[in-house]
Amino acid sequence: MAVIDDPGARPIAGAALPAGAGSGLPGAVLLDKDGTVLQDVPYNVDPDRMRLAPGAARALRRLGRLGVPLVVVSNQPGLALGRFTPEALGPMRQRLGELFATHGARLSGFFFCPHHPEGVVPRFTRTCLCRKPLPGLLRNAATLLHFDLRRSWMIGDILDDIEAGQRAGCHTILVDCGNETEWVRGPYRTPEHVVADLDQAARIVVRHLGGTVRHAERCRVEAS
Ligand SMILES: [Mg+2]
Ligand SMILES: [Zn+2]
Repeated sequence: MAVIDDPGARPIAGAALPAGAGSGLPGAVLLDKDGTVLQDVPYNVDPDRMRLAPGAARALRRLGRLGVPLVVVSNQPGLALGRFTPEALGPMRQRLGELFATHGARLSGFFFCPHHPEGVVPRFTRTCLCRKPLPGLLRNAATLLHFDLRRSWMIGDILDDIEAGQRAGCHTILVDCGNETEWVRGPYRTPEHVVADLDQAARIVVRHLGGTVRHAERCRVEAS
């Protein structure tokens, strides 16, 4: 697992926190990058070629108003396959943050898996626990950014995203925009919701998390 941390992310002291329900921690929205937030351009790290996916601008506005962490979790096998170097990810992460900010949202973290079992770059060539459909990226994000996976939502455009989300204990939404072509079914691969674009996914998340956030705000006001 690798992470380019947002300097504004709240640090946590001590060991990994329990991510179960009842932790008192807020939920987060975990977003796949390619094909979900951005139009899918294979192995692209060029900031000038990064374009929001259909519905993503409106979705970011909606999600930004929620006030919960918005986290991108992305397989980046291009590192293991030698398509680009780790240095290329800095400008890409920067541009992603700008796209969020342009639409009133804040990117709380960008977590990526640099691995691939059949890579050509030795240090990234291995099986790992962070490549989706495994949940390592999501678990690390929850530990570092201090949110509750069981209150969180994973949104992606293929069933591997759904499996990673469900293995981590999240709610899941599949944006079925045509990028999933294999439809390999399995115990963790049935999404709770299937929608056509990211804005529809955001509406579902707001419906579920909006009340919780408002309730938490009210409690803070009452406690102060
Ligand atoms: Mg994708
Ligand atoms: Zn990995």
